Amino acid sequence: MLEIQTVNVRKFPLNNETIMQLNNNDHQWPKLLLDEMEGDGFQNQEKENRESYLNLSITIIKKENSELLEHIFLTGNINARYRTLCVRCVEEMYEQIDVDFKVCFIPSSLEKSELYADQLTLYTDHMGEVDLYFYSDNIVDIKEFIHELIFLNLNQLPLHTEECKGLCQVCGENLNEKICVHQQESCCTL
Ligand SMILES: [Zn+2]
Ligand SMILES: [Zn+2]
Repeated sequence: MLEIQTVNVRKFPLNNETIMQLNNNDHQWPKLLLDEMEGDGFQNQEKENRESYLNLSITIIKKENSELLEHIFLTGNINARYRTLCVRCVEEMYEQIDVDFKVCFIPSSLEKSELYADQLTLYTDHMGEVDLYFYSDNIVDIKEFIHELIFLNLNQLPLHTEECKGLCQVCGENLNEKICVHQQESCCTL
C-alpha cells in the first residue's frame, strides 16, 4: 500500500495524481502520530480496544511552469478522534478533528521574491487559491506538514462538557459528582 512520507520533487512524476489513504491501523506513521496526539497519559491502557482513529486522505500532484517552477500540490483531509483529558475536571474524554487542506509547495528560492515573500496564499491555474508553503533541498516533507497541521488544530482547552464544574481548588473534589464544603461556604457568603 502506498505510503509516501516525503516527496523528492525532482524525481516525482509530472502531472501524475497520487492518492494515498492512510490510517493508524495499517500504517506506521499515522499510528505514531495518533499516539503522539494522545500523549503519554494513555500508554498503560489497552491500545487495541481504543475507539480512537486517525484517517488521512492525501492527494499529491506535481506541476511545473515558468512562474512557480516545479511545485507540489497537496490536498486532502485529516479526520481523527483521540483521547484527551478535560482541562477542568481531568476526566478522560474524546476530541474530534476534521481538517481539509489545499496547499502548494513552491521552491524556497522564490521565498525572497517580492511576489511571494509575505504571502500566505497563492492563486494557481491548476487549483485556484491555495495555502502557500516553501520546500527546500528538493524535498516536500508530507509527514512534517501533516504533523504541524494536526497540532495546530488540536483543541488546547478540551471540556468533557460545556457545563463541566471542574475540581475544587482547595480539596480537589470533582464538583460534577459532589459539592464539597468549600463550595458550600462560597455559595453562602455570596
Ligand atoms: Zn470536565
Ligand atoms: Zn473542596
